[in-house]
Amino acid sequence: MSEAERATAASAGSTAAADAGIHAIALPTPFLVGRVNCYLIEDRPLTLVDTGPNSGKSLDELERALEALGHRISDLERIVITHQHMDHLGLLEILARRSGAEVAAFYLLEPYLGNFSESASADDEFAMGIMRRHGVPADLATALSSVGASFRAFGSSGHVTRPLRDGDELEFADRTLRALHRPGHSPSDTVFWDRQRRMLIAGDHLLAHISSNPLISRPLGADCGTGRPRALISYIQSMRATRELDLDLVLTGHGKPVTDHVTLIDERLAMHERRANKLLEMLRAAPLTAYELALKIWGNVAVTQAFLTISEVLGHLDLLIESGRVRELDDGSVTRFEISIA
Ligand SMILES: [Zn+2]
Repeated sequence: MSEAERATAASAGSTAAADAGIHAIALPTPFLVGRVNCYLIEDRPLTLVDTGPNSGKSLDELERALEALGHRISDLERIVITHQHMDHLGLLEILARRSGAEVAAFYLLEPYLGNFSESASADDEFAMGIMRRHGVPADLATALSSVGASFRAFGSSGHVTRPLRDGDELEFADRTLRALHRPGHSPSDTVFWDRQRRMLIAGDHLLAHISSNPLISRPLGADCGTGRPRALISYIQSMRATRELDLDLVLTGHGKPVTDHVTLIDERLAMHERRANKLLEMLRAAPLTAYELALKIWGNVAVTQAFLTISEVLGHLDLLIESGRVRELDDGSVTRFEISIA
């Protein structure tokens, strides 16, 4: 499909969603990604999927958008959360309090959201450990961690009243949404499948205009084993599972809907393989840390976005490790990666 054809298909997709009673509400965020899409499902119970970040500006815009559709916050009967990131759930506490809506989310988010600021601190500490282990200078890791902490107010705690497991169904008067766990972009990514309408509400699991970052995240729950989480490996498994779904439309957490998910997923899988091969070339001369690799690829962006770029590099290194092309060298404090076959 050409760009123009994709744009036409995307706008037809939005119309099809509205015909099914699903309205996209794009709320402002303070993050690089730009606006976040929340979805109002006009059905019984009246449902909002994702809330936008915790800011007065987002709350105002949400209220106005609901009003334009003939609803108020107090009318909400169910709030569904797609994953643990602040831009998707920051208004949860306020909206749940004002509406009394039930809150449905992946079951491991129940303890996570029980005390958001504690969870976010633990995440920051985990990220700091990953950065140090993979070659980011200590003072830079500390500085970046405090920048991260300064954004925490855009998140929120919340009481998950309807913990969801993979395969659970949310019943409505006029539809059923099946919750499917699709970890990768975050450990709690959950997508909601309307099998009958061939639609998927996907949060950040798939995005049309940018590839979703498989961020390395602190594992949720106790049964997570040891070692570094392999976010890209999980993400690829999740994308392969989504590829098998019979879908006409994927409503995404940012940007326009996806109307050809199989093509998009195939493009993403090929891109990850290409990027892995590029890293392999860079390792030919000498073993390097993930941070050194990120600097080679992105220069100064690897400094200001150290955690994001290291997550990306580690993801591709995991693909190379899994296929036996690269191995880790651990000197006790820093990990380097070297080619294991000629
Ligand atoms: Zn996200």
